[in-house]
Order: sequence, then structure tokens, then C-alpha cells
Amino acid sequence: MRHARGIALGLLGAVVVLVAVVVARTLRVPASPSVTRASLPAILADSGAVERLAGAVRIPTVTTLDQPVDVARFDELHAFLAQQFPRAHAAMTREILDTASLLFTWKGTDASLSPVVLMAHQDVVPVEAGTEAQWTHPPFSGDLAEGFVWGRGTLDDKGNVMAILEAAEALAKRGFAPRRTLMLSFGHDEERGGSGALAVVAELERRGVHPSLVVDEGGVIADDLLPGMSGRRALVGITEKGYMSVRLTARAEGGHSSMPPQHTAVGILARALDRLENDPMPSRIDGGTRAMFEQLAPDVAFGRRMIFANLWLFDPLLRRILAGTPSSNAMIRTTTAPTMLEASPKDNVLAQQAKAVVNFRLLPGDSVATVMRHIAKAVNDPRVVAEPLEGLAREPAPVSPSDSPEFHTLTTAIGDVFGVSAVPYLVVGGTDARAYSRIARNVYRFSPFAFGKSDLARLHGTNERVPAKDYLEAIRFYQHLIELSTK
Ligand SMILES: [Zn+2]
Repeated sequence: MRHARGIALGLLGAVVVLVAVVVARTLRVPASPSVTRASLPAILADSGAVERLAGAVRIPTVTTLDQPVDVARFDELHAFLAQQFPRAHAAMTREILDTASLLFTWKGTDASLSPVVLMAHQDVVPVEAGTEAQWTHPPFSGDLAEGFVWGRGTLDDKGNVMAILEAAEALAKRGFAPRRTLMLSFGHDEERGGSGALAVVAELERRGVHPSLVVDEGGVIADDLLPGMSGRRALVGITEKGYMSVRLTARAEGGHSSMPPQHTAVGILARALDRLENDPMPSRIDGGTRAMFEQLAPDVAFGRRMIFANLWLFDPLLRRILAGTPSSNAMIRTTTAPTMLEASPKDNVLAQQAKAVVNFRLLPGDSVATVMRHIAKAVNDPRVVAEPLEGLAREPAPVSPSDSPEFHTLTTAIGDVFGVSAVPYLVVGGTDARAYSRIARNVYRFSPFAFGKSDLARLHGTNERVPAKDYLEAIRFYQHLIELSTK
């Protein structure tokens, strides 16, 4: 009896200590770092910058997977850029690689310093056939209306190409001479695989160039974008997920459907897909996401803050919460998405083989090999063969440091211009930036544009647009970033 009471008291004591530690850690979360805007000159609305962006949007540099690149469109864009940014073109050398990718180099005064690379892509995704009429302003109109520049590419990603060149033009006009070399790396086919960025990086590697800092699209200034978050934070992508598609083929006796066997190729394939969906890859909070949650702790309500500040204890609970919605689930695991199906060509013919394609987005830490092992284990059926689709697979990007001086330079520029603090972030889509991981350690993904929940659907969707005043702020950001990072 006394023994049992002793155990109960001991347990109670342990729980009290645990609760005390959890609450103490939660109360110790420092307030969100207060960031004040620096006083920097504004970009004037009548500078012509907004009209120049509209002009670039009107050149439809569309790329798609099934069409060859329309080089003439890119030639047109290049001529437009040369005409609109004469001083930047005089200050920098321009190279065209892989038919239409651009590499500008602004030589620094100190050749011993490794360069800074600002990236963006010139191509845009097509407008889905049949949705053109849903656009308030036609997708390639570049209309200036209601305070916005409208059109495909305003956010993804001509807004960045043009804002970077506007910044270079303004600096060149002022007689700016960077101490560290500045490179602008504008791929031409990011939306169809990014061979341009790979070619540029291969050339830089051949020349022995190892950039100190690389900045591309990926993260944004987020307004309440993440679960439980309130207010504005800059999400700076420090890594991005990998990509692979796997074909599953189930084989069986074909024949007439009047006398089917108990299990057909279609049924075997369906069972394999069902098993894959019900056995997702394991979840993990690490790499790009762990630091993000810890740093978001001050922004969320007490209950959630308790979780974020005590991941040592609540990691499994947080993973359960995040697994509840597709967007947050994508941040904590390699996702499994069956996308294509194919079987018998006729309603009364048994398929001899049924095929499916399953798309996986790989969490940093997983690999093409671990996904293939997972498929074999989950499907566990020798009648189903799995093979990766050739040419599509890419491993997750390495995780760039969120404590390096280069990360600090980038987040300082963000804070000075936008008055928001930055958090590290995992980009669940793909960007050209991953090509640079081969030659650079500090590769970050950030577009200087504010996004609310409704804006996400505009990317690759209908009514893509950018507020004119936000675009001018983006130019200011790039000017400041160039000055800070190349001095
Ligand atoms: Zn993009």
C-alpha cells in the first residue's frame, strides 16, 4: 500500500516537473524580433518602372513540357531588356547560354571575393485553355488598372527579372561600383525543367566560380500563410523538396471479360495504389521546418506556442496536427500522389497490363532510393513492377545554413525594406535555385512580394497580378540587397 502511494506520488511529481518545464519554456519565448524599416530612398511611381514590367509581360515567353522553346520570343525579350536598361547593359557583360538563358556579370573591384548571384526566370506557364475569359484583364495584356499590373508572369517570375534589372539600372546610373562581383542568372525554361539554369551552373563550375550567396524565387512575405500564424513574416527558403514520378505496372492474363479471373491487372494495380496511399512515407520535422516552427513561436497563440517551444516533447503531436491538411502535410513528409492511370483499350477486354504513375515530392533527408524501397515494402506484391520515369527524378536540395553571414545579409535587407523578420522555410515546389547547390552553400529562395492566402491561387492560375506599389518596393529591395551583399 505504502509502496503504491510512493509510486503515485513519484509520478505526480514527474508530471508537475514536466508541466513546469513546458510552461517555463513557453513563457521564455522571446517576443517576435522587432524590425524597423531603414530610411531608404523611395522608387517614384512615375519612374516608368511599372510600364516597363507591363511591356515584359506583353512578350509571351511561354514554355511547356511538350513544345520546344520558342527562341524568337526570348530574342524579343532580350532586345526589349537591352533597350529598356541601357546603363545596366553597359555596366555588365551579358552571355546567352543554352539558347536563351541569360548570365550578366558586373565585375567587382575586388576580384578575390566570390560573387553574389541574383536569380529569376524569364519563362512563364501557359494559360489553361478555356480559362482565358475568367481573367479580369487578358493574361498577356500587361494592363495597368486598379493599382495592379495584370498578367502572366507579374509574380512568377518576370516581376523579379524586371525588378532586379531596374535595381541594376538605377545603381549603374548612380555610378555604383560593386566591390564583390554581381551576377544575374535568368533561366529561360524553369517551368519546363530548368535546363538553362543547369547549363549556366555547369559553365560557372567550369570557370571555378563558387558564389558566396545565391537568391532565387521560392519564399515570400507571408500574411497569415501558415497554420496559427498571425501577422507578417518573410519566409526564406533554405531548401526545396525533390521530385520523382514512378510508373507502376501490374500484369495479368488478358482475355475476354465474360470469364474474368478473381484478380485482374486493374484490380491488382488498384490494390497497390490503395496500399501506397494508406502507407505514406514517415513524417519528420527537421531541416527546413524545425527552425521555422521554433522561430514562429512568438507569433502564435499560447496553446500553439507551447507546442512550438517544446518540440522536444510535442514533436509527435505537431506532426499529427500538420498531417491534417494537405498543405502542411507536404511540409513534413515525402508526399505520394497517384496522377495517371491506363489499362484496357476496350470495355469488354481484360487488360494484360494496367499502369499508373505516382508523383512523389521528396522531403530533404529522403532520396530516390529510399522512396523506391518504400514502394516495394508498401505494395509488397511481385505482380506489380515499379520504375522511376526517366529524366524527371531529382533529389531534395541540400539545406542551406540559417545562421551564416550571407543569410544574415539577406534577412537584414528584407528587414530594412519591409520591416518584417525572416524565418527559414522549406519550399515544397521546385525552383532553378537547386542547380546552384552544386557550387554554392548559401542558396536562398525569396521573392520580395507579399502574399495572402488568396494570392497563392494566382500563381500558375487565373488573374495573376502584382500591386504597382509592391513592385516598386521590390525594386528598392533589390537595390538595397545588391548594395549590402556586394560591399
Ligand atoms: Zn517561378
